[in-house]
Amino acid sequence: MPYRPFRAVVDDVARLSPSFIRVTFGGAELAGFGPAGLAFDQRIKLIFPTSAGELPDLPADGNWYEHWRTLPEHDRGVMRTYSIRDVERDARGTRLSVDFVLHLGTDGADSSGPAATWAHGARSGDELVVIGPDRDEDSGSGIEFSPGATREFRLFGDETAAPAIARILGDLPAGSVGEAAIEVPTAEDVLPLTAPAGVRVRWLPRDGAAHGSLLATAAGVVTQTPAEPDDAPLLWETPLYSSSGERLDAAPGRDGDVYYWIAGESGMVTGMRRGLVKTHGIPRSRVSFMGYWKRGVAMRG
Ligand SMILES: Cc1cc2nc3c(=O)[nH]c(=O)nc-3n(C[C@H](O)[C@H](O)[C@H](O)COP(=O)(O)OP(=O)(O)OC[C@H]3O[C@@H](n4cnc5c(N)ncnc54)[C@H](O)[C@@H]3O)c2cc1C
Repeated sequence: MPYRPFRAVVDDVARLSPSFIRVTFGGAELAGFGPAGLAFDQRIKLIFPTSAGELPDLPADGNWYEHWRTLPEHDRGVMRTYSIRDVERDARGTRLSVDFVLHLGTDGADSSGPAATWAHGARSGDELVVIGPDRDEDSGSGIEFSPGATREFRLFGDETAAPAIARILGDLPAGSVGEAAIEVPTAEDVLPLTAPAGVRVRWLPRDGAAHGSLLATAAGVVTQTPAEPDDAPLLWETPLYSSSGERLDAAPGRDGDVYYWIAGESGMVTGMRRGLVKTHGIPRSRVSFMGYWKRGVAMRG
């Protein structure tokens, strides 16, 4: 099944840096958690407990979402989207690691949210619901990294995309080439990761610079973060899907092409998209642009 609920129990919490905390989940139900193949940027949903500390009881099948939506808001818990940083299986069971960005500000656009607050206070034994793929799920549903036969990559992301980029780099075939640029709040947020020898990894500590400005420079584009209404949908443009309803005439990437993958704050990604597709004429069949969050706007799952 592409997505179903799993009750997950916090096994370990590690503060990796000022901006990242890694929460590792275990528990009997995770034995059935997938995906069957490589995760790349596999997205998952996390449902955090209600203010009364309760988690919703959801059917363990494909109808979970319809059921969740019918629950009164105070019984539902809060749902947010995250990436698989790692899935490990051994004699102790299955453990899923998720790297949370700790945005814990108190004012407006830099305010905290329920997911970051939960991660900051997470302790062994805490529980939440993970919505993710079954262990035999091999359809690729929820994985946007779609390079076709391309072996050359350019990956760009802010801190929220760092876990997905790290997983993609860990899952790429050894002969891959290209570069990954990851913009993070400070130099202390540079984290260890593994990548094929031919992929150059650059961490770009922002240290107070405008969000996305270092990524734009790394990508060689001039961007202006566009003013977007708060209720505009998150930008989501891949070779297979267009949130703006663009015509999809993408041929799959071929060996010799370069594939671009860009994710992070929605306004920043929109600016990068304009620069790369409109100015540099990179065909949309070779790019995935994904808004992972929006400044000043709480996500709704
Ligand atoms: C496919 C996908 C994969 C993702 N993977 C990850 C992941 O692995 N790790 C991760 O940390 N995030 C990831 N995100 C982003 C995450 O879902 C958002 O950051 C989400 O808004 C966090 O929820 P929240 O409850 O903490 O804040 P919300 O309640 O959604 O937002 C509250 C306020 O916080 C602001 N805000 C939200 N995120 C940030 C941030 N990072 N920095 C500064 N301000 C912020 C909002 O603009 C808003 O003003 C992913 C998103 C998508 C779509």
